[in-house]
Amino acid sequence: MAKPKTPRQTLNSYTVKPINKTVRAGDCVLMRPVEPGKPSYVAKIERIEADSRGANVKVHVRWYYRPEESIGGRRQFHGSKEVFLSDHHDVQSADTIEGKCTVHTFKGYTKLDAVGNDDFFCRFEYNSSTGSFNPDRVAVYCKCEMPYNPDDLMVQCEGCSDWFHPACIDMSAEEAERLDHFFCESCSPEGQKKLENSHTVSRQSDTKVETKRRRR
Ligand SMILES: [Zn+2]
Ligand SMILES: [Zn+2]
Repeated sequence: MAKPKTPRQTLNSYTVKPINKTVRAGDCVLMRPVEPGKPSYVAKIERIEADSRGANVKVHVRWYYRPEESIGGRRQFHGSKEVFLSDHHDVQSADTIEGKCTVHTFKGYTKLDAVGNDDFFCRFEYNSSTGSFNPDRVAVYCKCEMPYNPDDLMVQCEGCSDWFHPACIDMSAEEAERLDHFFCESCSPEGQKKLENSHTVSRQSDTKVETKRRRR
């Protein structure tokens, strides 16, 4: 005989006692992994529910996947704090919440002054059954034609506005950090002259960071 279904209620918020943090729908959280020693799972809370007495609290979540958890695995351009918003929904006990975290937009992440342990970024949605990404294309930079990895230092050419890895232009990171001006191979010295004459800034793109990144 099936047990009668106990009525469940939706909670606006729930305080996770061991960490003394209040979570709400829409919050991003770290959840205890099944295997100890593995990094915490990252999830977005979609709904919090409890039984009629307010006990047995469960969270409905949408998982963020880390690159190594995706079918294609981690690629060179994936950042250390990169996660993908998956189509994988789940229900977990609220007691597995270990802490709150922030999943930034890609642009927001590149503008952070300091990246904390609980800072992540997401630029792709991930289909967990097909392994496909949305968007399936991103802008590529440098001679190596790689998408931007925000962990890597890059320098911007003042001629064409493209970004370059120091290693790809035979430069050390230290040399690159000391640069005041940089013109890539194809922009130098002709590009330099053109720039001096016109003072125009060439193509701008939203996906690019405005300043060169420094290593932390
Ligand atoms: Zn490169
Ligand atoms: Zn250039």
